[in-house]
Amino acid sequence: MTRILRCFLCLVLCAACSKPRAPLPAPLAAQAGEPAAPAPMPLPLPFPTEAPDPAALDTALGRILGDAGIPEQLSWNILRAASQGPSFILDVLAVLDGDPYLRVLVDKAHALPARYEPADLTALGGGSYRVSRAGLFLRHDAAQALEVMAAAAKAGGVTLTASSAYRTYAYQQALYQRNVAQDGQYAADRESARAGHSQHQLGLVVDFGSIDDSFADTQEGRWLLANAGSFGWSLSFPEGYEEVTGYRWESWHYRYVGRELVYFIDTYFEGIQQYALQFIYAWEKAGGL
Ligand SMILES: [Zn+2]
Repeated sequence: MTRILRCFLCLVLCAACSKPRAPLPAPLAAQAGEPAAPAPMPLPLPFPTEAPDPAALDTALGRILGDAGIPEQLSWNILRAASQGPSFILDVLAVLDGDPYLRVLVDKAHALPARYEPADLTALGGGSYRVSRAGLFLRHDAAQALEVMAAAAKAGGVTLTASSAYRTYAYQQALYQRNVAQDGQYAADRESARAGHSQHQLGLVVDFGSIDDSFADTQEGRWLLANAGSFGWSLSFPEGYEEVTGYRWESWHYRYVGRELVYFIDTYFEGIQQYALQFIYAWEKAGGL
């Protein structure tokens, strides 16, 4: 069984290695001002629930899943999917083909360089969404994706409000220190990142609406939860995953990761962005399989 599995993974890998490099994903909106309707997302795979051959855990993929800290059941599902065909590896490669900052792991243990500042920051405003104040910026593709999503929301009678977006290292440092002074270290660490550890420094994140728990029960909050993934946006800190993400539930904080990564997160990691990013980090650190 072990040999069969290894041979199969080898075949999968060979198929994956010979796959020609696909071009970077096209921007979500082909024409500025003409929001493109997203294509329907494929349904997640129906995974079996029984344990795989224990030897599968001793494969390169099994070791990467272990290094990434992926829970056992999810790891089994992935090992099973990888043993059944090349889809999983091809889906990994699709994620790796995109802009590396869409998938970069930025959390309590992994920081961006203090000097990192995106080169393509774009001022927000003038589109289908509101901004709570002037001076909000996102990277170009994220700004475009925000407009596409906001136009779709507006067509459904919901107006999105961007309340916070790109933050510099220095801004985050001041914000964190202010939160510690106001609420104490423990409370601040549950919802405020230290400088360098904030996804906001990527220029790919929007905090929507009120930036508090009441947001979840607004029209805007419900619309985003149901639809943001179709536009490449992912809820970073979902309810009930504080031990995994390091942050309490933030119903307002969405990161633009692109539709390929949203598909990957939903299909293999039950919608938990943190698991998928930890996996990709471990995969790249290991140099792949
Ligand atoms: Zn945020």
